[in-house]
Amino acid sequence: MLDIKITKTTAPKARPADESKLGFGKVFTDHMFLMNYTEGQGWHDARIVPYENFSLSPASMVFHYGQEMFEGLKAYRGKDGKTRLFRPIMNARRTNATNERLCIPELPEEDFVQAVSAVVKVDEDWIPTAPGTSLYIRPFIIATDDFLGVAPSKTYLFCIILSPSGAYYASGLAPVGIWIEDEYVRAVRGGIGLAKTGGNYAASLAAQVKAHDGGYSQVLWLDGVERKYIEEVGAMNIFFKIDGKIVTPMLNGSILPGITRDSVIHLCKSWGMTVEERKVSVDELIEAQKNGKLEEVFGSGTAAVISPVGKLRYMDDVMTIGDGGIGPVSQKLYDTVTGIQNGTAEDPFGWALVLD
Ligand SMILES: *Cc1c(COP(=O)(O)O)cnc(C)c1O
Repeated sequence: MLDIKITKTTAPKARPADESKLGFGKVFTDHMFLMNYTEGQGWHDARIVPYENFSLSPASMVFHYGQEMFEGLKAYRGKDGKTRLFRPIMNARRTNATNERLCIPELPEEDFVQAVSAVVKVDEDWIPTAPGTSLYIRPFIIATDDFLGVAPSKTYLFCIILSPSGAYYASGLAPVGIWIEDEYVRAVRGGIGLAKTGGNYAASLAAQVKAHDGGYSQVLWLDGVERKYIEEVGAMNIFFKIDGKIVTPMLNGSILPGITRDSVIHLCKSWGMTVEERKVSVDELIEAQKNGKLEEVFGSGTAAVISPVGKLRYMDDVMTIGDGGIGPVSQKLYDTVTGIQNGTAEDPFGWALVLD
């Protein structure tokens, strides 16, 4: 159990009046959680303080070699007025998987969940209530030694900030167009693709700009060796419904293990569907689409929950998926997961953590 010292702001900010204009990641709440790590001492000084700028040495290691990690989850305000988190223990576990890869010290799982719950509780009134809105939670850890040598830092800062977010789909679930990238790659096995860290995103920007210029909203990555097998979308995992079966790339060491991905697999299996985690080549998709067997494509991630794909572009090939609309499995998954998050659907796996 962390002993969290709470200092409340004396100057609360005005909360956004129009929840339809929140967008994503632009507005921050009144408070944040902080905790330091010092070698020999461990994690210490857990505290919730008014949201403010950091003061850091320009030599802080995070600025130079990118030793940092982050997580992303949301708090939802249910119709019953209760606040729910969705599977936060999974974020705690993934934090430690990322930390291990990046030589960041371990953070006890229960401390992670306690810290997230505590800061959300302090700023609970900031959770928006309009349909589809939520409070985005961004935990992250940065290396803070003032040192330009390349080595794991001996000090770290763990921080959690909160950002009220608008509905991902302003006017209901809508299909997106996806660009299969054939030049740049995101990650390779043995690298850091499986870790939730900024470096993967820095590596992705050039392709994202290309995709946007081409009129597509997201990039779908191919494997970094043969550029033949599907990996994942920018910040989402990817699923295909091929000839009645749900197929998704297996976790091969270069793909980020999404919590929404895991939830989709559990739900589809519980509905009696066949789910295959395996290699999926771009050729297989093109073939399936020609034969009318590529029935649905959708992304999965915390931000959008489920993102139906209407169109896939690979080099000169533009594939329309189904009728270009929202498939029935995509819709059912979206309704079920958001229902669990808002407390309106049955929660057979006990995924929602109700804060009291
Ligand atoms: C966070 C993330 C995902 C989605 O993970 P969720 O836990 O489902 O939100 C997928 N890919 C990448 C690269 C990510 O950073």
